[in-house]
Amino acid sequence: MKTTLLTDLTVADICDGFVYNEFEGKGLFGWGGKLVIQPEYQRNYIYADGKRDVAVVDSLLKGYPLGLIYFVKTERGTYEVLDGQQRITSFGRFVKDKFSVKDANGMEQYFSGLAADLQEKILSAKLTIYVCEGEDSEIKNWFKTINIAGVPLNEQELLNAIYSGPFVSAAKATFSNSKNAKMQMWKSYVKGNENRQDILRTALEWVSKGNVTGYMSAHRHDETIDELKTYFETVIDWVDGVFNGTEDEMCGLEWGRLYEAYHNNGYVPEEVWTRVKELYADEFVKNRRGIFEYILGGETEPRLLELRVFEPKETKPVYARQTKEAEEHGHSNCPLCAIGPAANRTRIYKFNEMDADHVTAWSKGGATDISNCQMLCKTHNRAKGNK
Ligand SMILES: [Zn+2]
Repeated sequence: MKTTLLTDLTVADICDGFVYNEFEGKGLFGWGGKLVIQPEYQRNYIYADGKRDVAVVDSLLKGYPLGLIYFVKTERGTYEVLDGQQRITSFGRFVKDKFSVKDANGMEQYFSGLAADLQEKILSAKLTIYVCEGEDSEIKNWFKTINIAGVPLNEQELLNAIYSGPFVSAAKATFSNSKNAKMQMWKSYVKGNENRQDILRTALEWVSKGNVTGYMSAHRHDETIDELKTYFETVIDWVDGVFNGTEDEMCGLEWGRLYEAYHNNGYVPEEVWTRVKELYADEFVKNRRGIFEYILGGETEPRLLELRVFEPKETKPVYARQTKEAEEHGHSNCPLCAIGPAANRTRIYKFNEMDADHVTAWSKGGATDISNCQMLCKTHNRAKGNK
């Protein structure tokens, strides 16, 4: 790989022909059309937060360097931004009056409203740019290595870089596009930020059953994303159909796995949602995120709900009462041992040899308060728990 250092290009040179696409939320071209600012393997523009974009402009106004920028020279003689597109898009948007910064007096100023000398200071700022030439694979590997400045790429952003091509482009147009009309609905169920590729990540995990790298590699040259999109929408439609509403805790559940496990079961959405509401109101349910799988699975696994358990301040008095009574009557303080075979019938267990048990199980309407608590020896408690 060959690298050349350029130190004479200015902000004005790069902003020549700068195009920012509002719809896709990214800077497209600059440097008189020779420069592709956001090639497909790059992450979306994430500096438009009124802080990081403003910081770029402040640096230019103060005469600070913007740091190293890397371009790749393509075979066609054009250039792609390998590192620096967030910074370039920020100053490009500023020069095009897309956002304002506060001046020394705290007044919001757009570029066109700045004093001529300040405009000139920005436009004439020189950039430090490395231009690299080499094989695709060389450059992408190197891209992984130099991924050090600013916000590090996450795993999916790196995979998009490594497997860039028509499949990634099409996938991003659907799953990384905040203008997608379905995005808000999807985000009721899928956690994360589409700009950071979190929605795409989840869609890939679902369709590939967790083998995202293998799936991207196999589909890299596909022109369409039909399977990925259809599968994702099938899962979402299924969830949307089974549950008659949404709760915050539904966001980020493993819906792909739940779909595979339960989509052949029949559910009555009204009844399902009534149960969701009942369990939300149940103060013994500690893990609300578990409610959905608990219901889908036919309410057979209460452990998903992480039900409140008895605490020592409740179990110690129960132990004391049971033990006192057992000693008075000359039988075991474990009520099941007391009526069992001779060996343990009169055995008095220590506190730490016993466990708390719900006399009536929670799933059968039993409360988690002291009136429903009894102490059993560990053996009997385990045996009861397995039934
Ligand atoms: Zn026992």
